Amino acid sequence: MTISQKIKQLHASLPANVKLVAVSKFHPNEAILEAYEAGQRLFGESRVQELRTKFDTLPKDIVWHFIGPLQTNKVKYIAPFIHLIESVDSLRLLKEINKQAKRNNRILPILLQVHIAEEDTKQGFSTEECYELIASGKLKEYTNISLRGLMGMATLTDDTAHVQREFHELKLLYDKCAPHTDPALFTELSMGMTNDYPFAIKEGSTLIRIGTYLFGEREY
Ligand SMILES: *Cc1c(COP(=O)(O)O)cnc(C)c1O
Repeated sequence: MTISQKIKQLHASLPANVKLVAVSKFHPNEAILEAYEAGQRLFGESRVQELRTKFDTLPKDIVWHFIGPLQTNKVKYIAPFIHLIESVDSLRLLKEINKQAKRNNRILPILLQVHIAEEDTKQGFSTEECYELIASGKLKEYTNISLRGLMGMATLTDDTAHVQREFHELKLLYDKCAPHTDPALFTELSMGMTNDYPFAIKEGSTLIRIGTYLFGEREY
């Protein structure tokens, strides 16, 4: 299938409350434009410089999500235009996003990234830290960020029951945090990638982040 066919097939098969983030990192503008022509508007990138270049050269109605590790000193390059930073994994980063949002006269939507996988290489707050940060009301100090939900990545394993359990845990945390948030804004649970998105949808995902299935293997 072509990129275009895959986009259309995914759009047709997803439940109404689940949005597709087309993860275009390491793929050229031509691939993004093919998805765009098929109706895709929401794209995910994980490197600041690459995103900046793509933002400058691609149609302006693309909605960009930042999904990778974000260094504090680079927040300023995406703060003027980014629609959602999904990968907020420290208080230090949160502070810097708030500062740059202020500078740009924006309220910046974010997700808190939660560490649910077994691999230490994956980033994120622990479930306890995440709950504490939200329930304590501490986030309210950051007047230029808007908390929209949580994001997580499952362990890379063939043990699907294990993967599903991790997504379930994140959904439980999301439900536990929700009463401490603005329910009109705290609406997103970003989980699921090429290999595990059906399990993520079963467990309540609202944003699936799909790269390899749509665009093929990345060449690093
Ligand atoms: C690269 C990436 C994806 C896409 O993964 P695929 O397996 O290619 O679908 C999803 N989420 C994050 C955070 C990523 O960095």
